Amino acid sequence: MSDVQTGSSLESVSATTLAKTATDAFTDALPKAELHLHIEGSITPERLMKLADANKVTLPYDSEADLLAAYDFKDLQSFLDLYYLGASVLQTEEDFYAMTRDYLEVCRAQKILHTEIGFDPQAHTDRGIDFDVVMSGITQAMRDARSEWGQSSLLLMNLLRHLPVESALNTIDQAERYGDAIIAVGLDSAELPFPPEPFAPAFERARALGWHSVAHAGEEGPPAYIWSALNTLKVDRIDHGVRSDEDPELIAHLKEHQVPLTVCPLSNVRLRVIDHMRDHNILRMLDDGVMVTANSDDPTYFGGFLNENYSALSTDLGMTNQQAIQLAHNSFQASFLDAAQKQVFANRLDAFVAQHLAE
Ligand SMILES: [Zn+2]
Repeated sequence: MSDVQTGSSLESVSATTLAKTATDAFTDALPKAELHLHIEGSITPERLMKLADANKVTLPYDSEADLLAAYDFKDLQSFLDLYYLGASVLQTEEDFYAMTRDYLEVCRAQKILHTEIGFDPQAHTDRGIDFDVVMSGITQAMRDARSEWGQSSLLLMNLLRHLPVESALNTIDQAERYGDAIIAVGLDSAELPFPPEPFAPAFERARALGWHSVAHAGEEGPPAYIWSALNTLKVDRIDHGVRSDEDPELIAHLKEHQVPLTVCPLSNVRLRVIDHMRDHNILRMLDDGVMVTANSDDPTYFGGFLNENYSALSTDLGMTNQQAIQLAHNSFQASFLDAAQKQVFANRLDAFVAQHLAE
């Protein structure tokens, strides 16, 4: 149904216009959703240094410049080491509020009409921060953004796969009373050597609570991890999944069931999952009919928020207007919004396209 609607809105747009490489002016203003974002990975260097100072957390960096110089990663683990160090400056409800507010302001500026924010409670509870402190700060910022400018957002609780499944189950115990405030559970942190299957009991619990589920898979790990996330954890979406195209059967499965992949182009290049943006497979998979979306992952660590990811695809892969529109369209379709809400956003996207690309 949604494809037909997008098609109808494009009737006034010529095939030549759709085939042109998308400009930043167009993609910056394009209504879109973000589905793969770690809120702790959105903390700005400025906020990080300020909170370290206020909370008397000693970091091995004297200035923002020193800190930024450390954002030169050789793989996922080298990033995660810095990510957890960065998260350690977050101590109070106000800190979590300020970090979340900063990101939601970016959503407002970047036409991210809907966002699904991931957070890592164990990265905080393991260092003695109360689960409720984390939840209160993040959800208050989400409520304020909704009431102040209509920002749509949902919250996704990630479980750390380098910790035992008992810790994941304990985290779900703490989160259970928040019910609807959490839309889904996810699985993140170091992918290798931590396959998804041991977390099956946690995902089963989450499903019984009515939550959706996602899992990082096929970023550094093999296609077998994606199969395992789908078949054992029974997830609704795969985070990353860029290694899917090593397995034709998997690609066929993803296409047949329209399983969304939340791909993060700048992240993949920064963490050396893919050597150069011009080698990235996101648009090939998109054209092949896989339900791919573009996302920023940990934007302040990887050199750009969502619009910078779209921009990189135009610059290095020659992403066309049509492909940009399809990515934006997929971002709403692959979200955990209900059908009526998805339609509202799809209509806004269609109206924008009709207005901005019509000749
Ligand atoms: Zn991620």
